[in-house]
Amino acid sequence: MKTLTVSVVTPDGPVLEDRFEMVSCKAEYGELGILPGHIPLVAPLSISAVRLKGNNTTENLAVNGGFLEVRPDKVTILAQSAEKPTDIDVERAKKAKQRAESRLQANQDDLDFKRAEYALKRAMNRLDVTGQR
Ligand code: ATP
Repeated sequence: MKTLTVSVVTPDGPVLEDRFEMVSCKAEYGELGILPGHIPLVAPLSISAVRLKGNNTTENLAVNGGFLEVRPDKVTILAQSAEKPTDIDVERAKKAKQRAESRLQANQDDLDFKRAEYALKRAMNRLDVTGQR
């Protein structure tokens, strides 16, 4: 099976660079499945899981937005944050989820709705990737 290089970079540094057979991710306009030889494209990513299928393994990453750049032999993901399941602090994500839910429920006048909504999405995505939701 052909492979392509996948590089994931955040402001804190590189998270992963390796070769995979397929990348599945969620762009803001819909799901994308990328195989080697894909036409070049750039797309904004949603807060979601990126699935990297290797020879015998599948790796999942919790990605917080950012951009996907596709070239026939390489996929680059540039995101504000990207964590492997083993790097996710589940208790922290659960607390972040509770905080965001309480803010949204209380719905006070000064609530920054979008901010709370994004915080909730980030936390749920982290919990999904660790299988804790
Ligand atoms: P919190 O409220 O817990 O800080 P957050 O969603 O606001 O969560 P981000 O702004 O998305 O956090 O991330 C800030 C930094 O903290 C990033 O480097 C991110 O990878 C890391 N991070 C956030 N939550 C977790 C977590 N549950 N486990 C591991 N790293 C995390």
